[in-house]
Amino acid sequence: MSDPDYLTRDARGRHWFTETLHGDFRTSYELKQVLFDSATPHQRLIVADSVRFGRLVALDGVTQLTMADESAYHEMLAHVPILAHGRVEDVLIIGGGDGGMAEEVLKHNGIRRLVMVEIDAGVIDFARQHLAELHRNCFDDPRLELVIADGKDYAASAGEKFDLVIVDSTDPIGPGEVLFTREFYADCKRLLKPGGILVTQNGVPFFQAAELRNTVFNFARLFADAGCFLTVVPTYVGGFMALGWGTDDEALRAVSLGDLEQRFQAAGLDTRHYTPELHKGAFALPRFIEEIVETARREAAQRQGG
Ligand code: SAM
Repeated sequence: MSDPDYLTRDARGRHWFTETLHGDFRTSYELKQVLFDSATPHQRLIVADSVRFGRLVALDGVTQLTMADESAYHEMLAHVPILAHGRVEDVLIIGGGDGGMAEEVLKHNGIRRLVMVEIDAGVIDFARQHLAELHRNCFDDPRLELVIADGKDYAASAGEKFDLVIVDSTDPIGPGEVLFTREFYADCKRLLKPGGILVTQNGVPFFQAAELRNTVFNFARLFADAGCFLTVVPTYVGGFMALGWGTDDEALRAVSLGDLEQRFQAAGLDTRHYTPELHKGAFALPRFIEEIVETARREAAQRQGG
């Protein structure tokens, strides 16, 4: 059932997975073996062991994660908002079927409840079997409530409130497209407690500038503080990865290094990527990304008649 474009063999018999996210630019991973290659109800799921990046998960030809650097993504999208906020108890994850994000969130003892809304049960079933090194059986944590549903529908109909909403989604293609809309973001805002934070997977601005601009434009019409912070994940080729940031508490992005170090110590986190210093630096944007954010904020202000 494999798509010939994704999985190929070269003249020397070596096996390759080629990612097809960017039309004019592709990355290929040499593979040791393909563990799984099948269509789930929503997507084609490929899982393989690669020579350089370890276990690799791809959906519809787009690399979702590799074990070599997943911490650079999961730790930043989880620990930056949780330690910036300081009193997070209730969390909603939209997407995140591999379990990597939930595992990071549940490291915090202060978390009382984590609701995870994943559209594709096939991804979770698969993760349970083949990604234990990533999720460390967090699916069995009594604080975790798993909901198989479209995140868009869940956000539109849910009534409970959260301190933090994390959108750990695929890119704005296929089932993930609805998670980059104004309506969805507005519903996420409605689910936040006062001072709550919405953070989103927002791609690599070098290739996906329009995606970030769209999110910041919509966040700026919903939140007092709308922007992004950054990480770098070698698997997501193209340099900085942008993580959307939306909150009405404008002080949260400026929590002091001293307070972050204290909270980090108190949380007793053992991290491979996140540090309080890196957290502080993550909100410093290179000029070309700053321009994307400023343009989006300006356009939002003009649209609001500012
Ligand atoms: N870190 C990855 C990235 O940056 O590309 C994302 C990983 S995670 C596997 C993405 C998850 O979002 C997938 O399991 C996919 O099924 C889920 N997803 C996509 N669209 C969704 C939707 N509308 N509602 C809920 N989950 C969705």
